[in-house]
Amino acid sequence: MTTQNTPSTRKAAVIGAGQTGVTAAFGLLDAGFEVTLYSDRDQRSLRNDVPATGTALEFGETQQAEVALGLDTYTARAPRHSGLSVRIAGEANAELIGFDGNFDGYVGVAVDTRLKADERLTAFLERGGKFVVEPVTPESLDGIAAANDLTLVATGRAGLSDLFAIDTDRTVYDAPQRKLLTVTVKGLGFDEGVFAHRSPAGGAHSLFSIFAEQGEAWWGPYLHKDAGPTWAFLGWARPGSDWETRFDAADSAESALNIVKDLYRDYIDWDLPEVEATEVITEDPHSWLKGAVKPVVRAGIGHTASGHVVGSLGDTSVAYDPIAGQGAQSGLIQAQRLVAAAAVHDGAFDEAWLAEQYSSFLAARSDAANKVTRLFLSDPAFADIGGQFFATAAVDPKFAAALVGLLHRPQPFLGINSVEDAGAYIAQVTGQDPAELLARFTPAGRFERSTFAPALV
Ligand SMILES: Cc1cc2nc3c(=O)[nH]c(=O)nc-3n(C[C@H](O)[C@H](O)[C@H](O)COP(=O)(O)OP(=O)(O)OC[C@H]3O[C@@H](n4cnc5c(N)ncnc54)[C@H](O)[C@@H]3O)c2cc1C
Repeated sequence: MTTQNTPSTRKAAVIGAGQTGVTAAFGLLDAGFEVTLYSDRDQRSLRNDVPATGTALEFGETQQAEVALGLDTYTARAPRHSGLSVRIAGEANAELIGFDGNFDGYVGVAVDTRLKADERLTAFLERGGKFVVEPVTPESLDGIAAANDLTLVATGRAGLSDLFAIDTDRTVYDAPQRKLLTVTVKGLGFDEGVFAHRSPAGGAHSLFSIFAEQGEAWWGPYLHKDAGPTWAFLGWARPGSDWETRFDAADSAESALNIVKDLYRDYIDWDLPEVEATEVITEDPHSWLKGAVKPVVRAGIGHTASGHVVGSLGDTSVAYDPIAGQGAQSGLIQAQRLVAAAAVHDGAFDEAWLAEQYSSFLAARSDAANKVTRLFLSDPAFADIGGQFFATAAVDPKFAAALVGLLHRPQPFLGINSVEDAGAYIAQVTGQDPAELLARFTPAGRFERSTFAPALV
């Protein structure tokens, strides 16, 4: 169905100028394609009229994909995460498990998706890419696909995603697992005195608190498009919980931050002084977001009305609950893999080629990313493995690093399906007997509280 030109005239279209679409468009242009990027918003609106799609924390493997495309990883500009501090409260909010996992040989950065898309779009335009502002419909997509050798759809979770069938084997939930609330704030630094009660790294570690009966709460350093180095809060509320009622009430950045401060007063007082010191970013009315993500895996291939084949990309392919920070990472890795494969391919970008790229992406990253997301969602299917992993992390720093390392490279978890497999992995990482390690675990009892006082005071 698609026309095949000589390599020098190969034409590609990318639909959607979120960070995944722009990254793919830039990469294809750099690989010698003539590229048209379609967006329902102009560049100014993409940056200023919408919230960031998500926190978009990413780690080493994703940064390597960006480097391979000749793109900035923001590791020199964004506040760096060097680890993750985890605290888990069980039934009746009993303080059970605490550990601090260091990132071993990589760093994390959370960059405003609007900033990244905007800067990559500028680079794309400067290099001669064509940018068309129009909402693409299923009808207009038909014409676009007919005129291009390769058409990729990166319109996010909604947009044109219905063109791609849901993969019912890989889609395990029929509803969102959490309600989400996020807000980006200023007023807090990143030195060792910030969140010092959590780890010696202080403000260089992000913080994750899990409440078995309510949900999860995360704070981490963030690069905001206007305010620069800031902090982001991201909360997950279980259906029917008190946290869900609280999150539902947010209707502005101010109200979101007030809800978060009340949440910390009532539930997570160990981190309260730092949270109390934060302020909203007044120059950005879109610095907050609430909602829910239904985790879905779609097909990598869709067809337009007259049968042209198009590929899915980013959130259009796979929507992850953000609990393990896999969505942005997955889309960027998928984009880089597609660009690299397209650059060296001298045949048609037909159904067989797109199918091969998609199944190799699922095997190389996405299947593992989905499984790790289920682990961090406390999916009952992984309850025993999760209990063993988190308790062992509280006892052994090497295993704590390996556990938080699954956010960077989820692949080791793909083959772990039983407590025996989990034990073998623990033994492989630590060189110790997993049963002996687990026997050393004792519940935390009471977590250390913050004694932070803002510098001014
Ligand atoms: C609260 C939250 C926190 C998150 N945290 C993390 C994290 O820490 N780490 C991580 O890796 N991931 C995280 N994610 C996921 C991550 O943010 C997303 O996976 C990623 O930003 C998706 O980018 P995208 O470009 O695929 O989609 P989008 O950002 O949704 O971009 C799609 C673009 O297509 C445009 N569009 C839509 N329809 C059309 C149309 N018909 N025609 C033309 N244009 C169209 C839209 O306007 C938009 O600009 C999080 C997500 C959420 C919700």
